[in-house]
Amino acid sequence: MKQNKLYLNYAEHLQQRYGEKVYKLPINLPGTCPNRDGTVGYGGCIFCDEEGSGFECLSNTLAVEKQLAENKAFFKKRFNAQKFIAYFQAFTNTYLPLEDFKRNIRAVSESEDLVGISISTRPDCINEQYLEFLAEISKEKSLDITIELGLQTVNYHALQQINRGHTLAEFIDAVMRIKKYKFAVCAHVILNLPWDNELDVVENAKIISALAVDYVKLHSLYVVKNTKLGELYRDNKITIISLNEYIERVILFLEYLQPGTVVQRLVGKGPQGNLYFCNWDTSWWKIKSLIEEKMEAKGTFQGKKFDYLNGKAVKSML
Ligand code: SF4
Repeated sequence: MKQNKLYLNYAEHLQQRYGEKVYKLPINLPGTCPNRDGTVGYGGCIFCDEEGSGFECLSNTLAVEKQLAENKAFFKKRFNAQKFIAYFQAFTNTYLPLEDFKRNIRAVSESEDLVGISISTRPDCINEQYLEFLAEISKEKSLDITIELGLQTVNYHALQQINRGHTLAEFIDAVMRIKKYKFAVCAHVILNLPWDNELDVVENAKIISALAVDYVKLHSLYVVKNTKLGELYRDNKITIISLNEYIERVILFLEYLQPGTVVQRLVGKGPQGNLYFCNWDTSWWKIKSLIEEKMEAKGTFQGKKFDYLNGKAVKSML
């Protein structure tokens, strides 16, 4: 495999850690989200569609074991895949009664060829009882646990604009609690929220680095019809930066990101259909190539500007 020197690439990281290619198998639990059912808010984040970001998954009416088996069979046949991570992707997977959560995680953990379990959730749905249970499973089955947290931005004013229902504090609390159990943390960040500028992009990278977050997934904002964000876009109340500006923001983010954080994505895939806007009508792999080409041309790389922690002001006195 060609080594990527521009940033720490997820596929290469998995290859090094597990000695071969590892595939993520999406699992879709019937669930909801506290930001939809009234526990912390109604209507959800302004960009969220009805599927709760589970558009790549099988139906949630199928048992988790069946979803896992079907997805595994597909990857084995198509790619001769041998090792897998079970990925609880849609909605808020720790927003389940504890016993239901345990049952689903146990069911999945019995599967052969698993090296890990990855669980998507919100920062305000991290509780130590769930983490305790995951620690037991991790030990019992020798599985790596990753918790994927939707941060979106560290700009708490923008978090309010997108109706996230939590602020930056809950993210910091969640990361610190998860780290106590030695699980990995993945932060999801949207780099082109209309309420954010380059300063916020840099601060995203700095806070993620200061908290030693293990993985990041970068997304560009997509605009689904029949959402609050869709209404704002249709009525020209928001503008979305150009593709070139998005590329510049990704590069800026990577320059400030600590060299040890693994980058799972530079841009999200976005759902199909029913959209006002998605990735400038450009495929995600083309955007990824454009970012990498520009980084090469500029002679830049992840961590180039990572010099701000551990008392920057006193370093010259040592
Ligand atoms: S937290 Fe996730 S599932 Fe819940 S409303 Fe926001 S995007 Fe949708």
